[in-house]
Amino acid sequence: MGEIVTRLQAKLRERGLDAALFAAPEQLPSTNTRYLSGFSGSSCYLLVGTTSAYLLTDFRYTEQAKKEAPDFEIVRHGVPYVQALRELQEGQGFRRIGFEADKVPVSMFQEWQDHLSSAEFEPLRGLVEEMRLVKTAAEVQAIRRAAEVADRALLSVISTLKGRRERDVAVDLEVAMRREGADALAFPTIVVSGSRGSLPHGQPSPKVIEAGELVTIDFGARINGYHSDETVTVGVGQLSAELRSLFDIVSEAQQRGIAQVRPGASSRDVDQACRDHIDRAGYGEQFGHGTGHGVGLEVHEAPFASPRGREWVLAPGMTITVEPGIYIPGIGGVRLEDTLVVTETGAERLTGFPKRWQTY
Ligand code: ZN
Ligand code: ZN
Repeated sequence: MGEIVTRLQAKLRERGLDAALFAAPEQLPSTNTRYLSGFSGSSCYLLVGTTSAYLLTDFRYTEQAKKEAPDFEIVRHGVPYVQALRELQEGQGFRRIGFEADKVPVSMFQEWQDHLSSAEFEPLRGLVEEMRLVKTAAEVQAIRRAAEVADRALLSVISTLKGRRERDVAVDLEVAMRREGADALAFPTIVVSGSRGSLPHGQPSPKVIEAGELVTIDFGARINGYHSDETVTVGVGQLSAELRSLFDIVSEAQQRGIAQVRPGASSRDVDQACRDHIDRAGYGEQFGHGTGHGVGLEVHEAPFASPRGREWVLAPGMTITVEPGIYIPGIGGVRLEDTLVVTETGAERLTGFPKRWQTY
């Protein structure tokens, strides 16, 4: 058994469960089933016992599942899937079965209760999410590779900004990421310039990028299901002192945030370090979002660094972005974002594009 399944099985034993059932049918994609099994197809159910692990899927995916999920015994199900599930549950004598209470729709739960009548279902909350917080070396490597691909792609377009439409730059960057080896984009690329920079998640538009403007690009690649997430802001031509000073404030805030990322630190401290600096510079109201988030099979996952909400204690293997920004309607905006992994002694930056002041 691999490391991840073994860790799950230990958690089942701790809770006195015979098994746990994870559902990812076509209409309910789940990154948790991918995390646990490695299977990337669009439909499966996992039934994991304390010493066994089964992956149920249909005809389309049985061969793929055998390759991608070597820790699981692959069971082909027909219609309805619940028949194969019942045979397995009864055959294995699983009685107390955990399930993801936050993810299973009522109709599916009723189906399980009707068909798996000898089972007792126990709601599980956040069990897999907690496991996912700390990345394995292979997971970190996938994120690092995604970031490298994205950085190479950015390098190929960054000097072409002036006189081009935001949308064309975004398309070129997306194509370059695919060519460099991304399986997919992490999310639709953001390219905003000039006064449009005040839109933190603005869509690239037909607006032409002009000299004297800041350009913010938020982009990421996906490899083996893992994402990268990075934002750069660069100048085009000669910039006003006002825009340049906005950049310097965000840059300093980001460096202060990054300096807080280490084992034992609170995610709140990372946020506070960025926020205090921007507050003191007089732009607190213009930094309206959280400072960061974990990155993995989801682009946004725990831990989160924000002034409110849950506080997380950082530990080696956790990923976190540090992405302060200032957004001023009518003037523009700056955001700088790196993805880091917490190490035994501090943090390592996975995203590589330099965040110092640069003009093109
Ligand atoms: Zn981002
Ligand atoms: Zn982000």
